Amino acid sequence: MSTAYFTHPLCHRHDMGEGHPECPQRLAAIEDRLLVTGLADLMERRLAPEALLSDLELAHDAMLVASLAEQSNQAARSADAGGSPWVRIDPDTAANRHTWAAALRAAGAAIAATDAVIAGEVDNAFCAVRPPGHHACRSQAMGFCFFNNVAVAALHALEVHGLRRVAIVDFDVHHGNGTEDIVAGDERILMVSFFQHPLYPYSGTEPAASNLLNLPVPPYTRGPAIRDLIEQHWLPRLEAFAPELIFISAGFDAHRDDELGQLGLVEADYAWITRRLMDLAARHARGRIVSSLEGGYHLDALARSVEAHLRTLADL
Ligand SMILES: [Zn+2]
Repeated sequence: MSTAYFTHPLCHRHDMGEGHPECPQRLAAIEDRLLVTGLADLMERRLAPEALLSDLELAHDAMLVASLAEQSNQAARSADAGGSPWVRIDPDTAANRHTWAAALRAAGAAIAATDAVIAGEVDNAFCAVRPPGHHACRSQAMGFCFFNNVAVAALHALEVHGLRRVAIVDFDVHHGNGTEDIVAGDERILMVSFFQHPLYPYSGTEPAASNLLNLPVPPYTRGPAIRDLIEQHWLPRLEAFAPELIFISAGFDAHRDDELGQLGLVEADYAWITRRLMDLAARHARGRIVSSLEGGYHLDALARSVEAHLRTLADL
């Protein structure tokens, strides 16, 4: 298998303030782990390009896109005048002068990864990017997210490449309400997820559309129970849907060490989920998988989990 690793230095420049869990050190921890283990040498490293506005606007209102550019400019003006370097978007989410550039690269990574797997240049790809995306709704940034990287890339695969069916698999501990907002009712997309409930953003328990399969699970659910749910619910739906490409909203905050959630997954669970998705992709999608980082806030657990995910994707 050949696996591409998309990232960009600008993704380290977006920050939301001292002590914020969605911090640049997340990417540094991943990079460090890949270097120490030698895994970095075994993947094809690529620089994420900027997303085109036309791609962003497949998933988002033009107003949302324009407002992030303005918020980043406003943060820069404020910082230069000696004021706050942040423009607050919600209690958990803020833009600094680099947020616009970072968000363009984060979405651009998912788009370029999609182009690369569809062109057959690589079998699959992982995007080590921030800001994450799965809480970003069509017309609202929220929950550490500005542009919905995975939804943008999924719509790019459908609209620009003419694929007919793509799946979005979301294993972040939080419900991907933004992705749901964008893809609900679009029968070309099947979205499957599990998430802790109750937990931010406290949504997803009522069926919003027939192309969504949500599995809310209570706090303290552990790996074996999650695997059973995946076997019983996700895999039959995905098998029947026969996606031509599988996108993964790869959040690692369901790890037992992560303090933003209370689920009990470990590295081996992420490897197992990844393997099952690869088997499915091999049958239906010529192996094509595009995975993009969402949450994961315990730095060591995040780095180890990404390593397990990548080792499986790269078949190492
Ligand atoms: Zn999360």
